[in-house]
Amino acid sequence: MVQKKLVVLGGGESGIGAAILAKLKGFEVFLSDRSPISEKYREVLLRENINFEEGLHTDSLILDADEVVKSPGIPDKAPIIVALVSKGIPVISEIEFASRYTDAKLIAVTGSNGKTTTSLLTYHLLREAGLNVGLAGNIGESFAWQVAEKNFDYYVLEISSFQLDNSFEFRPSVAVLLNITPDHLDRYDYNFQNYVDSKFRIIQKQTAEDDFIYFEDSDVIVSELEKRSVSSRKWGISLKDTLAQGGYLKGQTLTANKGGVSYVQNFPELPIKGPHNAVNALASILVAQCVGLSPEAIKSGLLSFKNAPHRLEQVAVIDEVTYVNDSKATNVDSVFYALGSFDQPILLIAGGVDKGNDYSQIEELVRQKVKALIILTPKFEKLKEYFGAIVPQIYVTEDVQDAVNQAQKWSAPGDVVLLSPACASFDLFKNYEDRGDKFKQAVINLTK
Ligand code: ADP
Repeated sequence: MVQKKLVVLGGGESGIGAAILAKLKGFEVFLSDRSPISEKYREVLLRENINFEEGLHTDSLILDADEVVKSPGIPDKAPIIVALVSKGIPVISEIEFASRYTDAKLIAVTGSNGKTTTSLLTYHLLREAGLNVGLAGNIGESFAWQVAEKNFDYYVLEISSFQLDNSFEFRPSVAVLLNITPDHLDRYDYNFQNYVDSKFRIIQKQTAEDDFIYFEDSDVIVSELEKRSVSSRKWGISLKDTLAQGGYLKGQTLTANKGGVSYVQNFPELPIKGPHNAVNALASILVAQCVGLSPEAIKSGLLSFKNAPHRLEQVAVIDEVTYVNDSKATNVDSVFYALGSFDQPILLIAGGVDKGNDYSQIEELVRQKVKALIILTPKFEKLKEYFGAIVPQIYVTEDVQDAVNQAQKWSAPGDVVLLSPACASFDLFKNYEDRGDKFKQAVINLTK
């Protein structure tokens, strides 16, 4: 049999994993990255004897591929992708590729916000219940790499729209769609429907044997479901309505009803707070029910969960003022939920690289709750103009310590100082983790 050639574009975590899996499965493999490949991954490629190039794409080595696995970071408009598509060479995602080679039950989580929290919580519930489960996708070790080297019965996969764009046969047993709000529109021709279509690819191959868990309060999701014929078993989640089947929050109580079994949980008892986390918790509980976990296992997992940092992470209480790091809030919708998570007056630290933000969604909440806005970015004009007439006190700075000092100066006992930027971080920081870490350090410095 002629050996098939698989080209991997992108030498990051997912690309290296795909190359390793492809080699194991008998493909001739070539990996190409237009940028330098990190030392750690270069060593893996050399050790595994995988041919590669870095700093360029050589057309002649790529355009003879039988199939191409593309890193989610490479846009469809990249010249090399355009050339591949025009030659009719299939371009697929790493998730699509890896899912061909595993019989594990796949649980896929997507949405504009809440993917990481829900994936981590779901993984935690399953693992604590004793299942042989892996965590992959946008988190940690790539899915393909794990399929090559490990042998899990279940995978919880955090899936971005970019991974879904190049998925065709990918069929999760349980799919979760948390919300769809405008994000990454630069990759979707500034057409929201294209982004919605991408998210819905998560259920395109599901059958009546598979489960689909989704946020029923989202008009976008509900109207999209009305348009499509969906074979999956559907379980909604609502913060407004009581659902006979699905999950809902009523008062302080979370209830998940699935197939005659009801799980009831006091929400304030959980380590994650805020209405958005009620949605995330309900999604994870419903997944756990789909997988067949007992109520005792679900409860014990929920209570012992610890979320990843930078997501409404309480840093300290100083002079009765609570400092909260929500650096991961890089779009307006996540700030909407962050503001909704507190009843106290808020001193909001926001700003950064604006991805085309429309602040009208948070205008009312800001009016009600934000007593001071501290704008942390050199490009402060848009935020200042929008909120100038709404927020009583505004301060502009490019220094995170200065921002925190000013917040402290304006704060009173009982207030919350909240870093929830609504923007990407790379004007002043390496990434959102760096921004969150520097904020935390600045808060700790207040006590010195
Ligand atoms: P993602 O992986 O999708 O970026 P995260 O779990 O890392 O999501 O959360 C990112 C931010 O989004 C958090 O800071 C939080 O404020 C907000 N968020 C989390 N879950 C939700 C949700 N279900 N709906 C809206 N916003 C959310």
